[in-house]
Amino acid sequence: MQHFPIFLDLAGRRVVLSGGGDAALAKLRLLLKTEAHLTVFAADPAPEIENWASQSRLRLVRRAMQPGDTLCAALFYAADEDANEDARTSALARADGALVNIVDNLQDSQFITPAIVDRDPVTVAIGTEGAAPVLARAIKADLEAKLPATLGPLARIGKAFRKMAEALPMGRARREFWADYYFRTGPTAIATGEDGAREALDELLLRHLDAKNRPGHVAFVGAGPGDPELLTLKARRALDEADVVIYDRLISAEILELARREATLIDVGKEAYGPSTPQETINALIVEHAQKGAQVVRLKSGDSTVFGRLDEEIEACDAASVSWHIVPGITAASAAVAAIGQSLTKRQRNASVRLLTGHDMKGFADHDWATLARPGEVAAIYMGKRSARFIQGRLIMHGADRTTPVTVIENASRPDQRILSTTLDALPTDLADANLSGPALTFYGLASRAASAALPALQQELA
Ligand code: SAH
Repeated sequence: MQHFPIFLDLAGRRVVLSGGGDAALAKLRLLLKTEAHLTVFAADPAPEIENWASQSRLRLVRRAMQPGDTLCAALFYAADEDANEDARTSALARADGALVNIVDNLQDSQFITPAIVDRDPVTVAIGTEGAAPVLARAIKADLEAKLPATLGPLARIGKAFRKMAEALPMGRARREFWADYYFRTGPTAIATGEDGAREALDELLLRHLDAKNRPGHVAFVGAGPGDPELLTLKARRALDEADVVIYDRLISAEILELARREATLIDVGKEAYGPSTPQETINALIVEHAQKGAQVVRLKSGDSTVFGRLDEEIEACDAASVSWHIVPGITAASAAVAAIGQSLTKRQRNASVRLLTGHDMKGFADHDWATLARPGEVAAIYMGKRSARFIQGRLIMHGADRTTPVTVIENASRPDQRILSTTLDALPTDLADANLSGPALTFYGLASRAASAALPALQQELA
């Protein structure tokens, strides 16, 4: 970050601008929104500038700038539309100690003016370090469309009410009051005018003062396979409201970013074969925070009901009389099958699909191999990397066709997703060669659409 964004208090400060044409007008329209004392030096000012001068909104000096004209100025804008004149005036201003901006000359400017979304007192400043003004404009247009025009008055009325809201205890109670005002009650109330919004605030405060403190609660939230865009709206909302987020190893950083900045994030990541937080400790943590009154999000990858040891955590909540609910997520099998362009079930191929785990607490997991070995069966194997040879052996022993397609999808839905197309026969060796380090889902009985199109040359293809 070369340019550090700050909001400067210009009330009563001196700001000087040199120039009287279009570049000057564009900057002045912005500067006139502030409470700065504006002085414009222009030998030939545009009529708008003359107008503003006659309304005393700025001081107009009808000549070129001279040494000493920028004394005590906080900011100086060179808007001369002439490189030589810009260089001359900005040198004068620099000598007087003002911070200098030269319009359309990032290189020689000491500060830049961002693209601004103005919902005063809510102001959004967008900068791209001069890299992409088009992008800044697009973001600005996007935000303009998103932020209701009433946001300004809402925030102004809200600001005047801050002292009153201190009747609520600091922390969650106060946060919920303001969230209620800005996102629910306020926007409706202000439709009837600013007085309406003020009255709504009084009522809202009474309601929140009356409301008993919300007791702690646990949401078991499926975070999906990793792509933040595959979070459900409910998962996003739960993250928005969480006081405590207890998350697993597979939760991506982009998703954790979505938690409130004040939320406590607790990593209880479990390595499949490495050091791990014991399940009892996780259960105890969940219960402990909920009993203190926190809104707890227990964030698990994929869907929390699939190989997530969810029941143990639910039982711990029940035993402690802590309320809970489940927010479903997109399980790895769904993301992985999408990645290979197939469906999990298909008429005349398979009317059922199994979700298997490669290993359980006792070691390699046993399954109904005889059924799985029949042609057309499809299984989504979770945690199946290390047990690949075991699974292959069992299936072949029970008569499975060695040429049955097998597809391994690593990091499904993530930018580093990889697809390994192989067969039951070649699975263990291909897997060892591919050296996958991320979470991987193995489909037994499903080829990726690209690989099945290339049949019969169905062989290792590492994408
Ligand atoms: N509850 C999770 C599964 C947890 S078990 C779910 O519904 O997806 C962990 C296993 O899930 C991993 O070993 C891997 O087999 C699979 N997995 C999780 N995320 C994955 C991803 N992005 N790509 C491929 N497999 C994934």
